[in-house]
Amino acid sequence: MQDPDATALKFEPPATAAGDSARPLVAETELPTLDKVSVEASTCTACGLAKARNNVVFGEGDPHSPLVLIGEGPGEQEDLTGRPFVGRAGKLLDRALMDCGLDRSDVYICNILKCRAADWREGRAQNRAPAADEVAACNRWLDPQLRIIAPKVLLCIGGPSASHLIHKNFLITKERGKLFTCRYAEHALATLHPAYVLRQQGRNSDGGYSLLVEDIALAWMKANPLE
Ligand code: SF4
Repeated sequence: MQDPDATALKFEPPATAAGDSARPLVAETELPTLDKVSVEASTCTACGLAKARNNVVFGEGDPHSPLVLIGEGPGEQEDLTGRPFVGRAGKLLDRALMDCGLDRSDVYICNILKCRAADWREGRAQNRAPAADEVAACNRWLDPQLRIIAPKVLLCIGGPSASHLIHKNFLITKERGKLFTCRYAEHALATLHPAYVLRQQGRNSDGGYSLLVEDIALAWMKANPLE
């Protein structure tokens, strides 16, 4: 078993219970730069996902944006490219951003988990939900990442991200589009994952695409109250 602290940053992270709205215990002046965190994360072996990954997918976009979009973890295309949300779901997210008058360069996009969680089944790697210990291990990167960016609004993409960052019993069907607070941002809300929207879309249904657009628009409006 690998030492979970083997690649930890050289500062003490605060307690990170999901849904804890307390402000961080470490002063901003003690934080490393985002580049430093990204470089350290790129060689992380703190959990078993390091063995099969091709790339650590740290995040991309404008680190000064008031809005961070955050999903659960990288999939196949993200693992291959090292970029978040670049597969079919990512293209739908791009379209939803565009329908709000935005593109990726206006926001910052990342995941709670930085490496792909997958099991080898039927002759190929298939995505799976991350285990709790994997999410806990990866918080060593997520926590400084979000504290350095310090967005005004966090938009959780999908239920698992919301359960980790807003509150642990989050129900995406009942609570999406509602405003909460969280330790990393003044406002936090969640929306449908574009992969879910793609699965639901049919001849007579947009699969929740309009809700995805609506939630991004609300998040952007809360992030830029004077615009
Ligand atoms: S998932 Fe996170 S903790 Fe696990 S190896 Fe990747 S970067 Fe490290």
